[in-house]
Amino acid sequence: QLVVFEGGEGAGKSTQLQRLSARLGAAGVEHAVYREPGGTPVGDRIRDILLHSDMPLAPAAEATLFVASRAQLVHTVVKPALAAGQHILLDRFLLSTYAYQIHGRGLPARELRAANELATAGLVPDLTILLRLPVTEGLERAGKRGAADRFESAAREFHDRVAAAFDQFAEPAWQQAHPECGKIVAVDASGSLDVVEQRVHDAIAAHCPA
Ligand code: C5P
Repeated sequence: QLVVFEGGEGAGKSTQLQRLSARLGAAGVEHAVYREPGGTPVGDRIRDILLHSDMPLAPAAEATLFVASRAQLVHTVVKPALAAGQHILLDRFLLSTYAYQIHGRGLPARELRAANELATAGLVPDLTILLRLPVTEGLERAGKRGAADRFESAAREFHDRVAAAFDQFAEPAWQQAHPECGKIVAVDASGSLDVVEQRVHDAIAAHCPA
């Protein structure tokens, strides 16, 4: 199965993903963890350009680089692993493009949806855990983590648009209109790491029993 973690800055995706991975490991469930952008040697080079380049990137170039990283990850790693019966945990996937590039940057939805179709070749996550946290709290948490990447230091309005988009994705009507994203479950990311871990665990037990 493919389980994706999504959320805005500082929502705690990567931490919760590691915690879930530790739980699965302790239970003897074979699985692998990847992140976007990245997860492959090509993807990691793309990640470096996207996050740390001091060269200005046109929004369309930025968007297609995210999609290129995704295509490489899906085709060379995720699909073969799933076919071999391995479970995959993924730190960001389709919804990040929808939130950051379409709603955040204002790029056209139709074209990016089509580009994503090329990248994923029909692969639909079994479950997406959407970690939700108020923008102010998320940026504060991300700030404490240290050096900001190009995106974390973007304007507040950008993060507000991204957060509003993520909220919308949790709604059943949006999910019905976007079957390529699979089942999305919103999880409250406020509170202690242990409390959020338990919420994630409950969401997975309820929606992804295997
Ligand atoms: O998840 P992580 O913090 O590693 O993501 C790296 C950065 O890339 C984030 O700051 C996020 O805002 C940005 N991003 C983006 N569009 C995506 C995926 C990530 O702007 N599709």
